Amino acid sequence: MIPDGSVTPGGSADTHDLERRRRDLELNLSAVHDRIERARRDAGRTDELTLVVVTKFFPASDVDLLAGLGVTDIGESRDQEATAKLESLARRADLRVHFIGQLQSNKAGSVARYADVVQSVDRAKVVRALDRGACAAGRVLDVTVQVALADGGGRGGVPVDQAEALADAVAGSTSLRLRGVMAVAPLGGDQHPAFARLREVSDGIRTSHPDATWISAGMSGDLEAAVAHGATHLRVGSAILGSRLSHR
Ligand SMILES: *Cc1c(COP(=O)(O)O)cnc(C)c1O
Repeated sequence: MIPDGSVTPGGSADTHDLERRRRDLELNLSAVHDRIERARRDAGRTDELTLVVVTKFFPASDVDLLAGLGVTDIGESRDQEATAKLESLARRADLRVHFIGQLQSNKAGSVARYADVVQSVDRAKVVRALDRGACAAGRVLDVTVQVALADGGGRGGVPVDQAEALADAVAGSTSLRLRGVMAVAPLGGDQHPAFARLREVSDGIRTSHPDATWISAGMSGDLEAAVAHGATHLRVGSAILGSRLSHR
């Protein structure tokens, strides 16, 4: 055993730390997969479900470890952090990057250069800026419209009654592909009615955009409820990476 904090020749203390981190991530990931499988069984679902591991606040070394553990999709929420992190990844090519944070239109050009999916599109100005950015970068981005589920907003998103118009705007752009909807459940409340509402919004959008089948909902604390209400994408951070403080 190498005592904590010791430095051994040849950098083996680093290797030891990395190996310990890899094991922790593997255990956490496996526990989350178990929760997802149980929730799928309870909901009688056999369709596809994508786990997006949210790596915001955590270093590139963690992202590379996750890729080595079979993770294919990661979520980032700050442009500056994501740009720097992605540049230093060894396994960038193995990963699909989802931008899930609040998006200012002046950052859209930057995000359009690296994100494969932008989940947090919540107003027409961002649609236009992102479309321009994607066009300039010669890319086509997958987009979900973020829907506000809390009364009075608070956690981002377009109001429910404006979601279809925003979806139409995404679908009418040149370099954005409308994939579906995304939401964050209101803090503290019962997630079930919120996720049921999101499902209704999705149903409404799909009447005119049948390919917009994605429902991104569910985080570490409420993924079971999201699976019960038809989520196709889960965004899980702390249950896999730990809390931001405990990692420091
Ligand atoms: C941070 C974040 C998540 C992950 O939340 P956890 O509770 O850590 O699983 C999911 N979605 C969005 C939009 C986030 O910002």
